[in-house]
Amino acid sequence: MTTTTSAILVDEAKGAFRQGTIERRDLRPDDVRIEIAYAGICHSDIHQAREEWGSALFPMVPGHEIAGTVTEVGPEVTRYAVGDRVGVGCMVDSCGECEMCRTDHENFCEKKTVWTYNDRFPDGEVAYGGYSRETVVSERFTCRIPDGIALDEAAPLLCAGITVYTPLRRWGAGPGTKVAVVGMGGLGHMAVKLAAAMGADVTVLSQTTSKEQDGRAFGASDYRATSEDSTWSELKGSFDVIICTVSADLPVDSYLALLKPFGAFVNVGLPENPQSVSFGALVGGDRIIAGSNIGGIKGTQEMLDFCAEHGIGATVEVISADDVDRAYDDVVGSKVRYRYVIDTSTITPAG
Ligand code: NAP
Ligand code: ZN
Repeated sequence: MTTTTSAILVDEAKGAFRQGTIERRDLRPDDVRIEIAYAGICHSDIHQAREEWGSALFPMVPGHEIAGTVTEVGPEVTRYAVGDRVGVGCMVDSCGECEMCRTDHENFCEKKTVWTYNDRFPDGEVAYGGYSRETVVSERFTCRIPDGIALDEAAPLLCAGITVYTPLRRWGAGPGTKVAVVGMGGLGHMAVKLAAAMGADVTVLSQTTSKEQDGRAFGASDYRATSEDSTWSELKGSFDVIICTVSADLPVDSYLALLKPFGAFVNVGLPENPQSVSFGALVGGDRIIAGSNIGGIKGTQEMLDFCAEHGIGATVEVISADDVDRAYDDVVGSKVRYRYVIDTSTITPAG
């Protein structure tokens, strides 16, 4: 038994979106039904809908930055009630028993993390994402959105927010540290806001200075264009941590040279192609190159609470369901300011 809900779907790699319907499973005992209000557009949606990460499952309903309201709860749900404001991020299931799940790293489940879309549950059910009016998710993969954060500004926190919060915490961003954020798109603008709220001194490294005013308003004390040679010479050896959010090829060695000794270049971007690093750039100065993949559910809730405490939401442009193809092109063209969020009430109701 399933429930039919409306969604926007893409039928083939690089295809256009169309409105249609999908089936959501009936509530299991620990499931909540969520009326989705907003779904953010992450660059990862584009990588997958365009098959830039290898073969994908079509038809696809992307969307892993989901914010909405609980409309129904299963009999064993304890954390949520009808009417609660909740969010769902990049994952919707894991074994719950392995070492990684037990230590709040469900994103690294040893059996299988089920991603919010472009994936299947162990029983074969296809996972469809948030570009839809409604979803059904286990309460284990649902987070509470604090009252202080508007749902449209909260949606992108479920991926962009947690993806940069995790490495900022892990690599010690705070008072006395100098953090650089490379690329000020969806993830990057959240990294600037969060690192500044943690007390770090933040520099943005963007392709141009066209977004400088915004970067400073988000909390950066400096904003440099990577297209200028002076950026590379003047900032040599400056940073404790560099958070790189770039979705395209980049000169990794040049960024390593901007780290202080012992500094860490933490990459969260997932460009289509492999990137190269010269070990000399790492060995000189004992530098670190690291990756970071979203975060666990406990960390996501902590991030949401931190955002509420510091008055942080994403800076969004709300769009309608008919505007997603255009929005994808704008994200790829670095024109996004700073996250497109789909108002899912603009998806035509099923029936
Ligand atoms: P986005 O909004 O497109 O932001 C990426 C930014 O990178 C752009 O705004 C641009 O910033 C910069 N950029 C783009 N093309 C560039 C180029 N050719 N050279 C240099 N800089 C360039 O994307 P996003 O949603 O923030 O996602 C960023 C990346 O992170 C994607 O690859 C995505 O798949 C990945 N991601 C990873 C995780 C994870 O868990 N690790 C989670 C979510 C997303 P400027 O205009 O300021 O230069
Ligand atoms: Zn994402």
